[in-house]
Amino acid sequence: AMDQVLNPLIVKGRLIGIIKLDGKNDSTPFSTSDIDMLKLLSSHIAIALNDAILYEKAITDGLTGLYVQRHFHHKLNEEINRRKRTDTDLSLIMFDIDHFKEINDTYGHDAGDHVLKCVATIVKNVIREYDYAFRMGGDEFLVLLPETNEKQAMFLAERIRKRVKNKKFVEKDEKFFITASFGISQYNNIESSITSIVKRADKALYEVKESGRNNVKALYRFYRV
Ligand code: GH3
Ligand code: MG
Repeated sequence: AMDQVLNPLIVKGRLIGIIKLDGKNDSTPFSTSDIDMLKLLSSHIAIALNDAILYEKAITDGLTGLYVQRHFHHKLNEEINRRKRTDTDLSLIMFDIDHFKEINDTYGHDAGDHVLKCVATIVKNVIREYDYAFRMGGDEFLVLLPETNEKQAMFLAERIRKRVKNKKFVEKDEKFFITASFGISQYNNIESSITSIVKRADKALYEVKESGRNNVKALYRFYRV
């Protein structure tokens, strides 16, 4: 019998965690049958924990730590369904780094990767706990904002835009700055397709790119695409 037990959580020969029991409620030592029970439980906990780790990995972009595009459609559906029940606002910000290809061409692919990571960090620092940030691929990002209207989304996008613009990068003893273009849209239930919210943000973003970049634009809620 023991006062304290440690039991490893092992999946396919790999240690993924340890369970530590400090004592029993009635202060009696752990018996052999307690420990057998713990071992049985541990094998189940290890599998469940490993599944959760694998799932988290599958929905996370390796470079930026943001969610992957694949996960966006799942989340958008979830949030739109929630919105139908609660009748709250839902908005999104879609943005893309301006002339990102030039950064790769001038300073190399690793410098480009570093820029993507920094932009992701800025986004993570600006958004709230219940907002979701995605890397949609390449240099395009998306933020899904529950309980946020287009005006609030524009305000948030403007904060991200300013921080991105003011961030100083240094490569090969040369300093440089970047900018990004932002499109905003708010969900409405007059549109037949749930992807309309994405299309409107995309159109707004495109218009910013066309009109000189480094700006925020919203395609309003009742604008149909
Ligand atoms: P625009 O202002 O119109 O957005 O111009 P842009 O140069 O940003 O647009 P474009 O889509 O032509 O370039 C995106 C570039 O992003 C092209 C591609 O080589 C680069 N890229 C995509 N994924 C990665 C990545 O993971 N790392 C790095 N370093 N570059 C990437
Ligand atoms: Mg770009």
